[in-house]
Amino acid sequence: MTQDKVIIVTGGSGLVGKAIEWVIENDKGKFGKMEGEKWIFLTSKDGDLRSVEATRAIFDKYNPTHVIHLAALVGGLFKNMKYKLDFLRDNLLINDNVKKVVSCLSTCIFPDKTTYPIDETMIHNGPPHDSNFGYAYAKRLIDAQNKAYYDQFGDKFTSVIPTNVFGPHDNYDLQDSHVIPGLIHKCYLAKKNKTPFVVAGTGKPRRQFIYSRDLAKLFIWVLREYDEIDPIILSVGEKDEVSIKDVADAIVKAMDFKESYTFDTTKADGQYKKTASNDKLLKYLPDFEFTPFETAVKESVEWFIQNYDSARTGKN
Ligand code: NAP
Ligand code: GDP
Repeated sequence: MTQDKVIIVTGGSGLVGKAIEWVIENDKGKFGKMEGEKWIFLTSKDGDLRSVEATRAIFDKYNPTHVIHLAALVGGLFKNMKYKLDFLRDNLLINDNVKKVVSCLSTCIFPDKTTYPIDETMIHNGPPHDSNFGYAYAKRLIDAQNKAYYDQFGDKFTSVIPTNVFGPHDNYDLQDSHVIPGLIHKCYLAKKNKTPFVVAGTGKPRRQFIYSRDLAKLFIWVLREYDEIDPIILSVGEKDEVSIKDVADAIVKAMDFKESYTFDTTKADGQYKKTASNDKLLKYLPDFEFTPFETAVKESVEWFIQNYDSARTGKN
């Protein structure tokens, strides 16, 4: 049988890639696999995308018509502060065959000094926060590249801007991860070893979080139906922004951790907030249902406990 669409997902073994694979295989509604679609999920073992030769070999092998480009060096605040040059070296090479590419930006690439809520038009309006300028400039260039591909070749390459993502298959490393997986792991160890549970910073910064399986559905929708070159923010609404303290409380509840916890205010807070507007998304998909935050945290905690031995925790 011929396939109309051969879709490769780079970064297929990561948090977002695994969630897309899960939705494609399990969703019984409109986000599940469709006839004529062949999905291929790649990991760095299939080829290091920093290498032109390896990238070309992948495209020659699969001849994709569509690409969801997730592969990236990814990390939380503390990793971004440590490895700025590494984060700057991002690489994207695309074969002429490809009809559509959906790449992944992030809300942390927006200007540090800005008005809120931020929206899709503001990406290039000023320097990013110093803590992650390597990652931010590399990601901003994807948007520049997409516009150039369209102007010169008419290619439909676009990008999405998720807020802070979490869920099964996250990177649960104690130092290099994002806040939710980091705190889930720390709370798990505190409960198991009867040691203190310490949250970095003041707990006051505010963030919008998106559950990886919700993001996966939105990615699939973008691939199939979103026709703009300009990016689209994929996020819960402004009213669903929570503080880091709210996050710690949700984790404590989901983990059934009975002790109190403390804040280490000698650790960085990072940006106070990056509130993003999801108005553009809601214009396209007014009825999209996000998983409630506490439910999504609960599912992530349960996944972590069940998969502790194989999860990415820095120990394996
Ligand atoms: P992740 O869990 O860290 O996964 C990264 C993926 O990229 C893995 O599959 C990894 O393969 C692959 N990869 C890394 N370097 C590679 C290379 N040189 N060549 C080939 N593959 C490589 O990341 P994620 O959280 O799913 O992030 C996916 C996308 O979302 C990224 O573009 C990220 O910038 C963006 N994003 C993430 C967040 C967030 O909160 N997590 C927020 C906004 C945007 P291996 O498993 O084989 O190493
Ligand atoms: P960001 O949203 O890009 O800033 O990245 P993170 O997901 O790393 O969130 C950083 C925020 O969570 C900062 O305010 C940190 O002080 C706070 N935080 C509290 N505990 C932790 C932790 O264990 N790991 C991380 N990464 N951040 C933490």
